[in-house]
Amino acid sequence: MRCNICEFRCEILEGRTGRCGMYTNKNGKIIERFPHSYLFLFPISIETMPILHFYPRHKVLQISSIGCNFKCTGCISEVLIKNVESASEILKKIPPERIIKKAKDENCIGITFCINDPIVSHHSFKELAKLVKENNLFVGCSTNLYFTEESLRELTPYLDFVNVGLKGFSDKIYQEFCKVPSAEPIFRNIKILYKNNIHFEVSVPYIKGKENEIIDIAKSLSSISRDIPLQIMRFIPLGDVDMHLEPSIKEAEKVCEELRAYLDYVYLFNSPGTEYLNTTKNGKIIIKREFYGPMGARILEYTKDYHKIKIVGKISESVFDEEGFFGGYRITRAMEMILAILTAIGVKDKETIGNIWKETLNESFMKEFHEVWGGEKTLYDYLNVVRYVGKLAKNEENAEELINYIIKKMKEIEKIREKIKKVVNVYYSMGYPLFALNGSRFENKLVEFVGGRSLNKEIKRKGKPGVNISVEELNKLNPDVVFISGFLSCPEDDFIEYCNKHSISIKALKDKKIYRLPVGWDFGSPKWILGLMFIANKIYPKIYNFNIQKEANEFYERFYETSFEISNRSFYK
Ligand code: SF4
Repeated sequence: MRCNICEFRCEILEGRTGRCGMYTNKNGKIIERFPHSYLFLFPISIETMPILHFYPRHKVLQISSIGCNFKCTGCISEVLIKNVESASEILKKIPPERIIKKAKDENCIGITFCINDPIVSHHSFKELAKLVKENNLFVGCSTNLYFTEESLRELTPYLDFVNVGLKGFSDKIYQEFCKVPSAEPIFRNIKILYKNNIHFEVSVPYIKGKENEIIDIAKSLSSISRDIPLQIMRFIPLGDVDMHLEPSIKEAEKVCEELRAYLDYVYLFNSPGTEYLNTTKNGKIIIKREFYGPMGARILEYTKDYHKIKIVGKISESVFDEEGFFGGYRITRAMEMILAILTAIGVKDKETIGNIWKETLNESFMKEFHEVWGGEKTLYDYLNVVRYVGKLAKNEENAEELINYIIKKMKEIEKIREKIKKVVNVYYSMGYPLFALNGSRFENKLVEFVGGRSLNKEIKRKGKPGVNISVEELNKLNPDVVFISGFLSCPEDDFIEYCNKHSISIKALKDKKIYRLPVGWDFGSPKWILGLMFIANKIYPKIYNFNIQKEANEFYERFYETSFEISNRSFYK
């Protein structure tokens, strides 16, 4: 039997599954393996989908299942795509009526299928979408749009807003990065969306060296309409991808500038501190936004005449802040953080991983876990999580080994820090200098643990994971030392150039004390213990003297069975 939902048109034998792993042939009929089964169901602000020009700042109910028809290199939802069998353990059967009730109870304007692709839950999504429309709510989704023409036409009567996730323009890039033979059906489907008057925005990763791909996309879209918003996702190397494919924020901004020759609304994501998230017209900022987590944005302010730009609906007066790990793609990061612990304690078995996600993906655990990374909990509380995960995995011994290693280093630091006579003021940024991490973030706990004073705590506004500050604010803070996050980072040279260009005048700049954390050493993985030693050495070089290379080699050999090398931005690598 052939599955005709996407252009792979898999031939599926009785009892077997197709490429996405989500459909099977049962008694000569192609059926969904997990109908009406979802992983997540919670309200988000529409900008974390992200969609920027449709009912801005409104709340939508996000639903997601598992699996994907594409297998893209460096996928942000990799954790849900590559591990269908493990992740299926955590699916919950939720009938459409309950989803609609929840959307209404939460005052959402509609529902949106994102994180993974609705193609893999096509029949369920279609049924749900029909009912959602009957209830006068909006229907949206994020998709790679590799639908067959017939399956897309089944959905178009119900769709209101779509984020089309392109991978590039050429067949070559689709073949190289996603093992997809041709991009042609996707561009055909874009025209179908346009003709059906469905609001859509296009997102595409900017992979270093592949500038022509996105320029060709912009040219192609502009032949339909200059008004189509184009979201540039600065590529974050996850999964098996090499770091050298990641462009810097500065490089990505340069490309955005070129793209604006073709399209009126070009936005840059995954780039804390960039101004390319703003909507501008004739050089004037109409809607000002800031970075709000991977692939997310939030509105800070807007002019009264914003409706003069092409936008559907009004900007919501009220602001909705998702709690903890909820909202957009943050939840997949949380799952990866659990995987990072499991990897370090030697758990590789897929069934065990699935069971542990099942135990941990609940509101109360996620709330506690988030408190470790961005709330009141301490570094020692992280060790309780390791202990708990080790117990769930029945791997207490390895978990204790990891805990003991970390405690030993922490005790060493506690002893040495008694020698501190003069406290050093530290500022922690992510991306560009003017994006300040929240004071309660994990990175600032590292600073305080080694005896530094976190200046980020003096900034009262909060965001996810931080906020834009002004040049005046940073100059007033005048830090002695600056750290640049090891997750969404910025080369030191670009950082300094930005400071000089924006009249940032701080002690750390004059004293050349601006340091970028090695990838993965300050957030999300047990490797933070290496970051702690790195930070200690940099803030107080006269009293701490860790041999970082030696410590890193030892740690990697002991817990990752490999010698130390920075692989990429996956927490679990
Ligand atoms: S939806 Fe899945 S099973 Fe169906 S054609 Fe696409 S990849 Fe194959």
